[in-house]
Amino acid sequence: MSTSSLNDQLFTRAQASTPGGVNSPVRAFRSVGGTPRFITRAEGAYFWDADGRRYIDYIGSWGPAIVGHAHPQVVKAVQDAAARGLSFGAPTEAEIDMAEEICRLVPSVEQVRLVSSGTEAAMSALRLARGATGRDMVIKFEGCYHGHADSLLVKAGSGLLTFGNPTSAGVPADFAAHTMVLDYNNPQQLEDAFSKMGDRIACVIVEPVAGNMNLLPATPEFLQTMRRLCSAHGSVLIFDEVMSGFRVALGGAQSLYGIAPDMTVLGKVIGGGLPVAAFGGRRDLMQHLAPLGAVYQAGTLSGNPVAVAAGLSTLKLIQQPGFYESLGATGRRLTEGLGQAARDAGVSFCAAAVGGMFGLYFADKVPTNYSEMMTCDKNRFNAFFHAMLDEGVYLAPSAFEAGFVSAAHSDAVVDETIAAARKAFAKG
Ligand SMILES: *Cc1c(COP(=O)(O)O)cnc(C)c1O
Repeated sequence: MSTSSLNDQLFTRAQASTPGGVNSPVRAFRSVGGTPRFITRAEGAYFWDADGRRYIDYIGSWGPAIVGHAHPQVVKAVQDAAARGLSFGAPTEAEIDMAEEICRLVPSVEQVRLVSSGTEAAMSALRLARGATGRDMVIKFEGCYHGHADSLLVKAGSGLLTFGNPTSAGVPADFAAHTMVLDYNNPQQLEDAFSKMGDRIACVIVEPVAGNMNLLPATPEFLQTMRRLCSAHGSVLIFDEVMSGFRVALGGAQSLYGIAPDMTVLGKVIGGGLPVAAFGGRRDLMQHLAPLGAVYQAGTLSGNPVAVAAGLSTLKLIQQPGFYESLGATGRRLTEGLGQAARDAGVSFCAAAVGGMFGLYFADKVPTNYSEMMTCDKNRFNAFFHAMLDEGVYLAPSAFEAGFVSAAHSDAVVDETIAAARKAFAKG
């Protein structure tokens, strides 16, 4: 595995001043091994590392770069906004534009509040659901990620329908005790949980197309069961669409499944590469938020004018006619091409795409739940990851992360990727 000298030097330097040398763990290449690439610039479907090597980028900042990196219109909007001042701590008209745009594109969202990260948005949505219902219990699902708030860094307890255990040191067991973790795509467990303690459940939070255990779409039955049970028991259904929002379709996963959650959490694409996230939903729920209601939430940089400018210009670009048809076709071209390359090489592999999001699985068929996902061959993935990196293709540095295409991934770029994969699969 070739690593380049400047990346190595930067990584050594970084590790002296920053834990693990990175500001977010997956960037450290721990799962795949080797030296992380330090990125100097990005444009369209590509980025370049410290040694001047160019890569076709399939993480797109983990989703936000849906129109391609450094899109001229987004850059211009950011420059114009920055020239007018970076932050005011007082409201701006652009925040209204942003809120109206979100409510229009995601009709289940009647009111929305802007924040600065998906973690913050999910944490606030949870607090709001608890405050509005007067209940403490939260249901989440194994393999879904909702940011790193205490209540959500929880894995299943020892028995079915027992309360969860923290997945991180520093999360008090008392906090995790209010979170129940169930199997993804298992409607029967939801039925059991609600029949046992439905009147204590504040909310169910789910990634309707999961993207943090590789790509794993929910079955319609799973989401429909959740919707029915939440309505019947007065629990708040929260779709965490930080990743799937404006990514699998313009209206998010909820538009694909035709299910309206009570609340939606957004992030990634809505910031267009700058820190914007949001939580919103039914007006009667949102009215519980300060300054109107008793649920407190605030942020110095919430609705930051420069970040909102990046988000708004990105939301404009994704509404161009044919944008999602084209993005979906790119995802299909990539995954079908990779699948064919693997079959030709006799490698046990498959791939799937939903809109502009895709999954690569070193398995014979696409997994349908977390435990199936964990049977994918991680070592094969790691070898493939490095072979692709050597060919100039940057995939997510973990077997259990989704990948992303952008409008800048042309057919030629995708075909170059598939050609690289043919070489990578041939290496075994
Ligand atoms: C990325 C992500 C988050 C966390 O967002 P941050 O901006 O990284 O805090 C939450 N939920 C989902 C589904 C995500 O993919």
